[in-house]
Amino acid sequence: MKIATKLLRWYRRLGRDLPWRNTRNPYHILVSEVMLQQTQVDRVKLFYNRWLKQFPNWKRLAQASNKEIIHAWAGLGYNRRVLALRHIAQKISEHGVPKTYEEWLILKGIGPYTASAISAFAQKKRILPIDTNIRRVLGRILLGKPFSDPADDKKIQKYTNTFLPLRGAYYDVPQALFDLASITCTKTPNCGQCPLRQNCKSSKLFLSGTVHIPKRTIVASKEHKHRNKSYPDRIYRGRILKVVREKSEVSIQKIGYAIDKTFDPKLDQSWVQSMIQRLSKEGFTKQKKGKISL
Ligand code: SF4
Repeated sequence: MKIATKLLRWYRRLGRDLPWRNTRNPYHILVSEVMLQQTQVDRVKLFYNRWLKQFPNWKRLAQASNKEIIHAWAGLGYNRRVLALRHIAQKISEHGVPKTYEEWLILKGIGPYTASAISAFAQKKRILPIDTNIRRVLGRILLGKPFSDPADDKKIQKYTNTFLPLRGAYYDVPQALFDLASITCTKTPNCGQCPLRQNCKSSKLFLSGTVHIPKRTIVASKEHKHRNKSYPDRIYRGRILKVVREKSEVSIQKIGYAIDKTFDPKLDQSWVQSMIQRLSKEGFTKQKKGKISL
């Protein structure tokens, strides 16, 4: 039996039921992809339908105010994504929906993975969206170790010509691979339960226990941290936005105390001020007579 057939049978039996898999609408697909960029699937499930109810199409989102979108995005984190999403909606409302992978890539905020995902899932293009999960699974199957270099993506894409031979499977095969990566071919894979174990160059190694799975190395964050603060500025900027969302106009000092228990006006005021300035520059907040609002 062909690899794709085995994979798809497994997917039909055990694949995840996710709301964005029931649509081919490019707007809906893009919303899900942007939400999934840095947020867990279970969390995105809580927000996805609510978002589409409030902003059902490109036009409605293009016209939404900062206040509306920031409130609607609250809880998803990495807030810059929502401004980028609205920017894309504005461009598409003006110029129309891109028709090719290359046209999607021109839009600011859309990289190769997202352009491939919309092309494949919304526009039935034969292209495989490649992320670290796909690199791990296909690398294990083909090479006996994960593809570790994004430069290998061309090789992986080439391989899809033989891997995706089924009519229409350019939607289901990538989704099945995502699920295999999330359920079975995880960091410590469960090869005994894998539908592809007979085709996989790694399965014997894993099943015989001869593979050394390195412990996760925690790489020290390069993000900026202010003096004795526990978290990088990104976390405090998220907290500032939360305070400003909840209170319509608030002073810098009140924000300082609200975001950090150890806030010291002498040592930290300019730090808070600089984070607010950055948020204003990005279009999240504005400052009038010392009061900050959305
Ligand atoms: S056999 Fe094991 S290593 Fe290979 S794809 Fe399946 S789970 Fe991953």
